Amino acid sequence: MAAFDSSSLPPLRDVIARHELRTRKSLGQHFLCDMNLIRRIAAVAGDMSGCTVVEVGPGPGGLTRALLETDAVAVVAVEKDPRCVAALADLADAAPGRLRIVEGDALKTDLVAMTAPPRAIVANLPYNVGTELLLGWLHHIENWRSLTLMFQAEVADRIAAAPGSKAYGRLSIIAQFCCDVARVLDVPAAAFSPPPKVDSAIVHLTPRRDRPADVDLAKLERVTAAAFGQRRKMLRASLKSLGGEALLARAGINPQERAENLTLNDFENLARLV
Ligand code: SAM
Repeated sequence: MAAFDSSSLPPLRDVIARHELRTRKSLGQHFLCDMNLIRRIAAVAGDMSGCTVVEVGPGPGGLTRALLETDAVAVVAVEKDPRCVAALADLADAAPGRLRIVEGDALKTDLVAMTAPPRAIVANLPYNVGTELLLGWLHHIENWRSLTLMFQAEVADRIAAAPGSKAYGRLSIIAQFCCDVARVLDVPAAAFSPPPKVDSAIVHLTPRRDRPADVDLAKLERVTAAAFGQRRKMLRASLKSLGGEALLARAGINPQERAENLTLNDFENLARLV
């Protein structure tokens, strides 16, 4: 594949100024302009050769440039803001046949139907819809080779959290049941324009090969919702509606334990038994 060279393109700050991309809070807009940092983000996504890469929220196109510099077969970028879509036209011209810009809401767009496998997602997600997008992709993780996603650091902590920590909860269990999860890069708030109130971090998720086939994701969600819905309570109380002490006895779990101390394996056992 011919290497894409973004060095002849105008600096991202010029693109932002020329298209008057004043950032909108409602769209979670915080833009990255440092191409060295942006290339590091594309690098932690791993080898993209043979892959179609989906980017959600390209904004002025910094990460899009770095993704076009990889060996990806094509990049499909879904953007809700028509001003950003217009700003990306020059980039599409500079990468003929390799960049498709789709104007739309990623929450309502069938990303799988519009791309060929193998597929990966690499995105600096809008914070306001990041978790909702992730959960949707986890439910059909078989469609994706990997997800490399930037979140608020606190959300990245929750996704990658281990038992016993404050961040450990429903999102940790669902993400780690579906995927091997690694928190791979911290990105300080100062790297963005405008800087958000909090730091960010990148999480790399790959579908788990050893995911037990006899555990139903919907049941795991019911168990985790009940257990963490009242996380300070003992499990015999929080899981009462799902079988309480009898269920916990069958799973070999101490009924006085609290949700935050159960391992993924414990939750999988409970989901098998409800
Ligand atoms: N990727 C760019 C960067 O790193 O500089 C911009 C990232 S910014 C955090 C999030 C982007 O997502 C914005 O361009 C915003 O317009 C876009 N966006 C927000 N909500 C969206 C949605 N529901 N679907 C698609 N794009 C969305």
